[in-house]
Amino acid sequence: MIVFDLKCLQGHKFEGWFDDGKAYEDQKARGLLTCPVCNDADISKIPTAFSIKAAHPEKTPALAQKELAKLEKTLAAFIENNFDNVGSRFATEALKIHYGVTEPRNIRGTSTQEEEKTLKEEGIGFIKIPVVSDDG
Ligand SMILES: [Zn+2]
Repeated sequence: MIVFDLKCLQGHKFEGWFDDGKAYEDQKARGLLTCPVCNDADISKIPTAFSIKAAHPEKTPALAQKELAKLEKTLAAFIENNFDNVGSRFATEALKIHYGVTEPRNIRGTSTQEEEKTLKEEGIGFIKIPVVSDDG
C-alpha cells in the first residue's frame, strides 16, 4: 500500500491509499478519485516526504525501520500462536498434509533449499519470512 497526500482544485487536502502509484493513475483517469469535501474530481498529488522516500529507498529514515521491525515482531507472534512448529520436519509435514496423510493445519518450520525445490515441484504453497524469534 502507498499513501498519497491529495488536493482538489478548491485546495481541500486529504489522504488517498492505493496499491501502488499505477492504481492512483488508474483511478484518477477513470474519475474515481473525488474530494471528500466538495466532490471535485480534479485531484492532484501533493509532493510528500513519502514519495521522495519511495524514490530513494536507501534513505529510509530510522522511524520507518522501527515500524518495520514492529511489524515483523507482530507477524512472528501471530505465526507462533497460530502455526504448529514442526522445526526441520517442515518439508516432510507439508508433504504429508498435501497428500492427506495428516490433518490439514498451519505449520511453520525450516527447510533446506533442496526441500523447497521439492515442495515447489509438488505444487505446495509456502511463504518464507525473516525469522525474528529465536525459539527455532
Ligand atoms: Zn474539495
